[in-house]
Amino acid sequence: SYRKGGYHAVRVGDPFAGGRYIVQKKLGWGQFSTVWLAYDTQSSKYVALKIQKSAAQFVQAALHEIEVLSVIADGDLSNSRCVVRLIDHFKHVGPNGQHLCMVLEFLGDSLLRLIKYNRYKGLELNKVREICRCILIGLDYLHREVGIIHTDLKPENILLSNTIDPAKDPVRCETSPILERPEGNPYTGITMSIIEKKLKKRARRAAAKISGKRSSTGGATTKPDRRLDGIDVQCKIVDLGNACWADKPFAEEIQTRQYRAPEVILQSGYSFSVDMWSFACTAFELATGDMMFAPKGGQGFSEDEDHLALMMELLGKIPKKIAIGGARSKDLFDKYGDLKRIRRLKFWPLAKMLMDKYKFSEADAREFSEFLVPLLDFVPENRPTAKQCLEHPWLSMRRSSVQNETANEMCNNSNIRKVETGIRNLQIRVG
Ligand code: ATP
Ligand code: MG
Ligand code: MG
Repeated sequence: SYRKGGYHAVRVGDPFAGGRYIVQKKLGWGQFSTVWLAYDTQSSKYVALKIQKSAAQFVQAALHEIEVLSVIADGDLSNSRCVVRLIDHFKHVGPNGQHLCMVLEFLGDSLLRLIKYNRYKGLELNKVREICRCILIGLDYLHREVGIIHTDLKPENILLSNTIDPAKDPVRCETSPILERPEGNPYTGITMSIIEKKLKKRARRAAAKISGKRSSTGGATTKPDRRLDGIDVQCKIVDLGNACWADKPFAEEIQTRQYRAPEVILQSGYSFSVDMWSFACTAFELATGDMMFAPKGGQGFSEDEDHLALMMELLGKIPKKIAIGGARSKDLFDKYGDLKRIRRLKFWPLAKMLMDKYKFSEADAREFSEFLVPLLDFVPENRPTAKQCLEHPWLSMRRSSVQNETANEMCNNSNIRKVETGIRNLQIRVG
């Protein structure tokens, strides 16, 4: 992809925007871009530099993302605090063409990484609540004040706020040998290897804090640390490249498969409430470590059909009017509103699943499902808005989670869940 129209090749130390930004290391990449940690010599801060591929369609996409991010950056800081901020943007000409570059605030690990650090066991519920509150504040802002639908909400697109600023980090104070080492950053005197080690260590520590467990390689788990009960788990919504203005949706197929709302599959039109569906899927994944829906195509049925079947097994039957009301309904449902090619559903309501499969206590399971189920209403208009959701009592509950922790451990150690899922799918879909 490093050719004409593709990515711009970057080397550590490369200057951008006439020398204002100096590249430090690679942070990540996507279909559209590579993203780099860069030092902003003007503000003396670290930033994330997103360098878009140069072909026309990528330029177009970047212009759209910049437009959306600019509206957000112009908004009231206190309202938009849970959405990534655009600091600057510019063009960069390289051998592969002209690349649009976005300078974003430098954020930490994604929630997906956090789930991985925690070995897919699910985070402590009190931490899930804090993260949910942040996501909802971000969504409420995007929906009500900006008027856009994110359309790609998922753990990967929510990044933890950086509690550290490498520029202000204590390593800065280290003495001259480090400052003079050749690989040291001439602008800060910090060697990148030290920053990297620090960042990694902090990330591991943050993951442990957030999950209330030790996530060290030793794998020792402890009771949640009471001292960490009050920590503020701030996170921000990123990747607004697919966001669309609610009054002019431009794509029919939106959202990443597992987080896709039923009305998108059925092509019945969509609005802000698709983000609420994805939010519920994300909250479930944070609490359990598993995706809420992981559909697969099989013999005689498609991925879409499996997806709809999984939804109904968890949430009950789709009301007939909804099932037969979409542009794609005729391919999937018969005139009675039953799936054409998957006839036997095995119902497993959410609260029961949380207890059976994830060993939630009865109270935790009931309360969490009371929070989630309304967000997963098959009638999009019935789903609570982000603002309404922020008022839900579940978000402000604080209950001792030791019981749940222990039970979760037992379940995870023996890897029951994965096995169970396999059997379940076989039972349902074969024969
Ligand atoms: P996609 O194919 O997902 O649309 P993309 O090319 O639009 O990708 P992003 O998803 O915006 O790119 O960013 C790619 C990766 O770079 C992210 O997954 C994340 O790891 C990292 N990243 C993006 N923005 C930041 C940031 N502000 N701070 C730190 N890391 C970031
Ligand atoms: Mg992305
Ligand atoms: Mg993107």
